[in-house]
Amino acid sequence: MNDTQFQQKYSQLVSELKKVSLFGSCGSILGWDEQANMPPKGGEHRANQLSLLAGMGHQMSTSTELGELIGELESLKSFDDLEEPQAVVISEARREYDRATKLPQALVEEMSKVTSLGQQAWVEARKEKDFSTFQPWLEKIVGLKREEAEAIGYEGGQPYDALLDAYEPGASTQEIDAVFSAFRTPLVELLQQITDSSVKTDADLLERSYPVAQQKEFALEAAAAIGFDFDAGRLDIAAHPFCSGIGPGDCRLTTRYDEHHFPGAFFGTLHEAGHGIYEQGLDPAWYGTAIGESASLGIHESQSRMWENLVGRSQSFWQHFYSRAQHYFPTALSDVSQQQFHLAINDVRPTFIRVEADEVTYNLHIMLRFEMEQLLISGELAPADVPAVWDQKFTESFGITPPDVSQGCLQDVHWGHGLIGYFPTYALGNMYASQIYNQAEKELGDLGAMFSQGEFLPLKKWLNEKIHKNGRRYKANRLVEVVTGESLSYEPLLAHLRNRFSPLYNL
Ligand code: ZN
Repeated sequence: MNDTQFQQKYSQLVSELKKVSLFGSCGSILGWDEQANMPPKGGEHRANQLSLLAGMGHQMSTSTELGELIGELESLKSFDDLEEPQAVVISEARREYDRATKLPQALVEEMSKVTSLGQQAWVEARKEKDFSTFQPWLEKIVGLKREEAEAIGYEGGQPYDALLDAYEPGASTQEIDAVFSAFRTPLVELLQQITDSSVKTDADLLERSYPVAQQKEFALEAAAAIGFDFDAGRLDIAAHPFCSGIGPGDCRLTTRYDEHHFPGAFFGTLHEAGHGIYEQGLDPAWYGTAIGESASLGIHESQSRMWENLVGRSQSFWQHFYSRAQHYFPTALSDVSQQQFHLAINDVRPTFIRVEADEVTYNLHIMLRFEMEQLLISGELAPADVPAVWDQKFTESFGITPPDVSQGCLQDVHWGHGLIGYFPTYALGNMYASQIYNQAEKELGDLGAMFSQGEFLPLKKWLNEKIHKNGRRYKANRLVEVVTGESLSYEPLLAHLRNRFSPLYNL
């Protein structure tokens, strides 16, 4: 083995990977702009720009030179420890290269264009509450995703596995199905207990007048307090809130405000800031390689949901922040006690909108989408039947029926954006969040006591060290094992939900 030759080739690989990431980040900024700033008539032109970039990016990430370089490195050195960072950089470069080379250039360009236009069609269809204008786009997108699954390949009979792998490397439909099925029964029982409780929450107090300018200031204050760095990021408005890590030093958050609905923007911002803190915590020295990238969407979601729910909806968080809330919203909150407020933000009941769902029913929203997506990809469900099947399954799970498609199957941007296989990562994130949070508490001591004093940075720094700095050194399930000593489990999440809601609802 020639170590000098290896190091030289390795540096060459890293520099190629950086170029691919830099190029991709140009598309990210255009994508962010499309949702945050672009005038409506710019849509067609933007779709052409993004399609061109996607095609060129695909060429870069599938070039023969890159493939040869990876091959040479593999033959120059075999690692004893496959979790050593350099070994991971090479093996992940291989995994991504193989995935990308399986996708024909034409499919990549078509997908980019169709999903850019599909997303614009979704915005319009959702606004007009009219599924028929979105249906042809959904048909195109599902068709392309099925082509993608066939091109990538999958073991066993589940084309959905091929799509899932893009977001949650190493996870399988079967494994997720097993965890969801086991979780479902105790979750539905808990929901029933809460619904039967004689404790009545006054969630209406969150629908009073909360002026948007103050909502924004308060959200910025809270996001900064938990450790989001606004010198390396910003917060804007978009129809469907998201976080986009453009690159080191630049992370874009978005939210949406409703004067008569306080939780949407506030918890939405905490959520996106949780994603942003992860992005900002990635090691810039490894930018472009797997070690400088997030582990998976499930782990990403564990970070956002942890800040939004485990921290943001806790009693101790509001021991610190409630006086600030009253400062920003004196009219709405002057006659509301901290206890009433806390109960209101932890109101549990079946509702239509996933992003505004409570911590208990949220997981049922995901199970519904997971089921629908598998049916769409297997071909058992035609896109034209989505609204009817959605409403039927929704009613079975939640006992209520969406009044229109904007509160039903058109509420999420994901399918219009081609993000099929993405939804399960949200519920995985909830599970991982509880597992990781419990470990942080074991190592750091009473986190609630810290939050009540406004001390959020010990948790943030712990996450930086234990989760963020590892990048994608470990696959999600393995990372959680390394950090907590336990593999994926719904039980810590179920325990958290019982601990939180039993005292609130006198269960
Ligand atoms: Zn999220």
